[in-house]
Amino acid sequence: MTAVTPESLSTRLDEARRDYAALVDRGLSLNLTRGKPSARQLDLAADLLRLPGDRHTASDGTDCRNYQGAPLGLPELREAFAGHLQVPVEQLVAAGNSSLELMHDCLVHALLGTLPGAARRWADEERIAFLCPVPGYDRHFALCERFGIEMIPVPMTAEGPDMDEVERLAAADPAVKGIWCVPKYSNPSGVSYGDETVRRLAAMPAAAPDFRIFWDNAYAVHHLTEEEVGIADVLAACAAAGNPDRTFVFGSTSKITLAGAGVAFFGSSPANVAWLTGYSGKRSIGPDKVNQLRHALFLRDADGVRAHMARHRELLRPKFDAVHRILTERLGGTGLATWSAPKGGYFVALDVLDGCAREVVRRAADAGIALTPAGATHPYGDDPRDSTIRIAPSFPDLAELEQAIEGLATCVRLVGYEKLAAGERAG
Ligand code: PMP
Repeated sequence: MTAVTPESLSTRLDEARRDYAALVDRGLSLNLTRGKPSARQLDLAADLLRLPGDRHTASDGTDCRNYQGAPLGLPELREAFAGHLQVPVEQLVAAGNSSLELMHDCLVHALLGTLPGAARRWADEERIAFLCPVPGYDRHFALCERFGIEMIPVPMTAEGPDMDEVERLAAADPAVKGIWCVPKYSNPSGVSYGDETVRRLAAMPAAAPDFRIFWDNAYAVHHLTEEEVGIADVLAACAAAGNPDRTFVFGSTSKITLAGAGVAFFGSSPANVAWLTGYSGKRSIGPDKVNQLRHALFLRDADGVRAHMARHRELLRPKFDAVHRILTERLGGTGLATWSAPKGGYFVALDVLDGCAREVVRRAADAGIALTPAGATHPYGDDPRDSTIRIAPSFPDLAELEQAIEGLATCVRLVGYEKLAAGERAG
């Protein structure tokens, strides 16, 4: 960072104030709040809406129009995703339209039923807590709040959650029943877990005999570069460590085909699969097999999924490149911010000076640029350093995105230099 003398600080602050006033005058209306695919990405799945045509028979002979058959979902679709999700096909369930719903149901069934290895229902425990790597996904935290599950933040490192902290907390406290993990291209930091992190998660002693890793592999095939980042096989690692029932794997095609109208997956040990399907068989007669058939016909197989994701990458890559380029041009060398350069996923995490994130988001909103609320990346909406902002570049078109990131950079400069100037006055 270039040294900021009091004179140059006041020049920079004046300049940032002028730029901000000009930004507000433009009367923008831009939205970077949620990680939604753009309409052009959804167009890639246009053929899905014409399928299954007059086909209605699955590879195992199931008539998809009717009740019964394929209780774990269509075999050909499970086959297409088993490798990508690193789950043996016989342990992979193709379910409804939402993986978040599966996570919700797993919590409900653990509360009201008894997990393999559990002494009692979670509802009968005095206290339940989950470890929450931060920054993390706000909807995971919302599920914990919904069910009164205490959240214990654990910092993320470049290799995944701080494992010394995770091991210490899991071993010490039998109320710690689980951990949220987005192991590849994590939401929002873009971090992918290192092999040693996966091994330690699988092998660590846990005080709770029914401890579960909620392995939300939402971005398993969502590469942004030619490098297809791989992560260690968590189910195999758990089995090898003598903890075969420790992990629930989740995934979905929400950001592959149609968001909210795709197919969700659950994978785990045979005991956990029997546990969940036993309960879900009470909840529903079966999944939407017509939608599963349409997906199987459209995506075909594992290579078909890979080829489809390459088309998404062509649309997404220029947007992520633009974010990185503009942040570097506007904020590089200022010392006011750092940001992630993810190799996949849907987000960029922007870290501003401590105590500035909320104010940056507020100033951006006043200039017509809607961002995810500051704090959303932390349990209870509380980012103790008030420094992390989640950027979701996928939805707007490139020109709008560029305007939004230029505007955001102006807000970061304004708030950052105001903070430094206030510090100077106080000092
Ligand atoms: N997990 C993560 C980490 C996500 O970012 C999202 C949003 N795409 C989801 C789960 C929700 O996925 P679904 O549509 O399958 O419920």
